[in-house]
Amino acid sequence: MFVLAVIYENCTGCHLCELACSFKHHGVFDLSLSRITILTKPEVQTSVQVYCLQCRDAACERVCPMDAISRDRNGAYIINYDRCIGCRECAYACPFGAISFEVEARPIKCDLCGGEPECVAVCPHDAIVYMEEKKAARELKKAKAAGVAYGLYGGKETSEHPRKKAEEAVEYLMKLVEKSGELDV
Ligand code: SF4
Ligand code: SF4
Repeated sequence: MFVLAVIYENCTGCHLCELACSFKHHGVFDLSLSRITILTKPEVQTSVQVYCLQCRDAACERVCPMDAISRDRNGAYIINYDRCIGCRECAYACPFGAISFEVEARPIKCDLCGGEPECVAVCPHDAIVYMEEKKAARELKKAKAAGVAYGLYGGKETSEHPRKKAEEAVEYLMKLVEKSGELDV
């Protein structure tokens, strides 16, 4: 099973992941429609990504009165909108605040983009990675042992994921737009 993991130190708070996410799911660049949220604290130069951790025994799945949430083959919890009644119980139950709502009161959450997360592809600093769960756990252990407070890898120098250039990220976004053929830019 693959999981989304973050290298906090690599994140510059550029919000490109949020833009790519909203475009992928809604066809618009709108931060409020992103399933990943970047909280920035410029005063301490820190950015933290908030997103669904696809928990084992997930609270959202358990509380849903309509059994509208289930796991797909990638391990992502998916909302069945044919069953969802918009009661918001899932959002209240999520301990990570990873479920938000569209204007029509439909809950939205990370679905791992069907196994090819757009945020990972676009991030110009490789701050988000998608890797095998056991490997991610090992890296977290290593980071903890090294006394690192944030992130899986504990720093830019030790990251085995080379940074992309910002231009590559912009190019990627443009390709997304071109692929959709619906947006006038
Ligand atoms: S795209 Fe990468 S560097 Fe930019 S805010 Fe998202 S995680 Fe951080
Ligand atoms: S908002 Fe929808 S998915 Fe969430 S708990 Fe209510 S019925 Fe279930």
